[in-house]
Amino acid sequence: MIKDIFKDKKPTLSFEVFPPKKEDDFANAFSVMDALAVLKPDFISVTYGAGGSKSKKTLEIASYIQNRLHIDALAHMTCVGSSREDIDAVASQMEQEGIRQVLALRGDRPATMSDEQFNSRAFAHASDLIAYLKANTSLHMAGACYPEKHFEAESFEEDLRHLKEKCEAGAEFLITQLFFDNDSFLRFRETAGKAGISVPICAGIMPITTAKQIGTTVSLSGSSVPKKMADMIAAYADNPADLRKAGIEYAAEQIRGLKAEGVDGIHIYTMNRPKVAAEIVGMI
Ligand code: FAD
Repeated sequence: MIKDIFKDKKPTLSFEVFPPKKEDDFANAFSVMDALAVLKPDFISVTYGAGGSKSKKTLEIASYIQNRLHIDALAHMTCVGSSREDIDAVASQMEQEGIRQVLALRGDRPATMSDEQFNSRAFAHASDLIAYLKANTSLHMAGACYPEKHFEAESFEEDLRHLKEKCEAGAEFLITQLFFDNDSFLRFRETAGKAGISVPICAGIMPITTAKQIGTTVSLSGSSVPKKMADMIAAYADNPADLRKAGIEYAAEQIRGLKAEGVDGIHIYTMNRPKVAAEIVGMI
């Protein structure tokens, strides 16, 4: 189990990948997983569509990681658009495939979901999904956390209170939203510790290697962009090769800083780019 790796190794190294968008892209996705496996991660997590309609693709990639590569797979699962029966079905398919661990998430509200549907969802929060899976399946759960606060939460303290409930419901470890400023992570880790959150926390690191990527990343994650990163993008905006190099160095420097602070785990958002991941791993 991933939770046991934290007892023997600090920091753990893990990657996030996403399933292919099209059916005929599976061969390519498997070769991405093969290239990441060479870097010997402790686990690989696989993203999941918020509505749950693409769950089969998540399952197929997670199964490849678990059963062919023999690396612990952490399959993401969202519940915002799912009934109990939907969750039962996905959880049972995971168990049949030998996938034992889930990053249990609420998911973002899909644009097509009405207020009525959103307000009557079967699982209100990730903690409800975690408690349900713990009571009804053999799966082990991890949860998401937000060093700069989840965008819906009214305050950092309120978000942290709910994070504690998530851990009490059964989240065995946490993975953070991406951040570009280590101080925000360190402040969050300290406050979480004081609030009684004692499970391992993996730091989510996203390498920014193109100017286009920063806009999408910030709008999706809500993470702030420190001056150092803004300056880097401005300096290399017209030079893709230098921006790629600087982005990789930025991520590696963040990771070296976190290691010096005794972080439990480093989780690299690979965007299915194994060469970028390999270059970072070679520098940390
Ligand atoms: P929750 O923990 O339920 O929190 C959501 C909000 O509700 C927070 O503001 C929280 O403070 C509040 N809240 C929690 N409990 C309560 C309560 N009892 N009462 C009142 N308020 C409460 N999305 C995807 O669609 N697919 C993915 O694969 C995916 N992977 C992710 C991986 C990581 C590491 C992270 C950090 C995020 C990921 N997301 C993914 C995005 C995630 O689904 C969104 O951020 C979503 O808005 C929140 O999900 P959550 O599980 O953190 O929700």
